[in-house]
Amino acid sequence: MSKYDTVVGLEVHIQLNTKTKAFCGDALSFGDSPNTHVSAISLAHPGTLPVVNKVQVEKAIRLGLALGCRINEYHFFDRKHYFYPDSPKNYQITQDNEPICIGGSIDIQVNGQKKTVRIHHIHMEEDAGKTIHDIDDHYSMVDLNRAGTPLLELVTEPDMSSGEEVYAFMAELQRLVRYIDVSDADMEKGSMRCDCNVSVKPAGSLTLGERCEIKNLNSKRFAREAVEYEAQRQIKLVEQGITFSKQTLHYNVVEKITQSLREKEGAEDYRYFPDPDLAPMRVTPAYLEEIKTSMPDLPWVVKERLINEHGLVEDHAEQIAADPYLVALYQEINNDLKDPKSVAAFMVNQVLPNIEAETYSESILPCHPAMMAEYLQLLKSGKVTASIANQKLWPALCADQSQSAEERAATLGILINNDTGFLEEIVTKVIADNPDQVKKYKGGKKNLMGFFVGQIMRQSKGSADPQAVQQLLAEALK
Ligand code: ADP
Ligand code: MG
Repeated sequence: MSKYDTVVGLEVHIQLNTKTKAFCGDALSFGDSPNTHVSAISLAHPGTLPVVNKVQVEKAIRLGLALGCRINEYHFFDRKHYFYPDSPKNYQITQDNEPICIGGSIDIQVNGQKKTVRIHHIHMEEDAGKTIHDIDDHYSMVDLNRAGTPLLELVTEPDMSSGEEVYAFMAELQRLVRYIDVSDADMEKGSMRCDCNVSVKPAGSLTLGERCEIKNLNSKRFAREAVEYEAQRQIKLVEQGITFSKQTLHYNVVEKITQSLREKEGAEDYRYFPDPDLAPMRVTPAYLEEIKTSMPDLPWVVKERLINEHGLVEDHAEQIAADPYLVALYQEINNDLKDPKSVAAFMVNQVLPNIEAETYSESILPCHPAMMAEYLQLLKSGKVTASIANQKLWPALCADQSQSAEERAATLGILINNDTGFLEEIVTKVIADNPDQVKKYKGGKKNLMGFFVGQIMRQSKGSADPQAVQQLLAEALK
């Protein structure tokens, strides 16, 4: 047991996957030429007026509902003032006094232990542009394409106690926002990033220690490392009796250390006040209901249903429930097949291992879902043996879907042949071709049966029914 507890609270920024910006019609763009999505509003020309993007509000509510937050019926935007070259208004539109979602929680699992992390609130705001320091020797460059991108900021209570828990929290949140179609949450692109507030205290103490805030971590792994490093750094200070005040830190990913950026500003520095250009908003009960009905069933609900109603094992249920497209695919195939366990085993063992993607859609499947159903139907009918189908038919279907699964099996010559005339012919031939083995078998080497079956399966190109072969051989070798 450590003599100290680590305490972590997160502020997570999530870029929404809306078509347009938070307060104007400029398109969201990642990687486009600089300053090509910058109307007068993005540039903050005098006299322009922002307009609320209804989809931002809807997505904020979707996330709030998924996390069990209270949706604040009356909420509004505030201005947060600061000067920065990539923020031309010199204030950010955000929510301070009345955020859209309050409370809620996320369950995480670390080392087999479940833990609930409480959410303080979620508010809507807008992203800044980008200042680029490394493409010119003399000047810093400003790209305002990102300025005004809709963001949600999710603030947790200080409920996490290790880098591992921070990692698990970010992973769970990432999975969820993708599931409910709120964000692509691609941390490498900056679509999701987090500030980690870290403090330490004597083990078991009820008073929180002074904290430092590590800004803008854009990977789950870096967040985990930065928190672990920072906790150790603070413990060393405390042990030496050195006090420190609230600081803003940067994580140096090369040296793997936290470094001081600036003293943390107090809230009063920002001069928050309600934005007079944007009217307060009201979420009516009818609107809330409309959004509720448009939400997919959440992963943990789907997983339970797959286990309890479809009889799937937990691992299969979890892997399928992890993505709404996989759930839809499972349902589509199972509607044809009515054999939940085989469909799930097929998806988990044969389809998913061959797909490398963070999100799923039909375009990345190895073959059409209807063909998958035909393939499984053929297996179920017993017209092909599972191992041969797996080796030969499945790759053939993935490569070319111009024939039905059964036609393709026929073309490959692997449809099981129960025609005794055809089989007897092969059995007779194999016995005639291997007089030595026949002698040994009759002399007592009964395990040669496997050799004969193998020969016959090969000669029939896998199309012989193994059971029928065994019977015919036993007769012939008596
Ligand atoms: P600020 O307004 O300075 O950003 P907040 O009260 O909004 O501060 O808290 C920001 C984040 O810091 C929250 O996620 C909260 O859980 C976390 N936090 C607050 N106090 C501590 C502490 N002593 N140790 C670790 N995290 C903390
Ligand atoms: Mg804050």
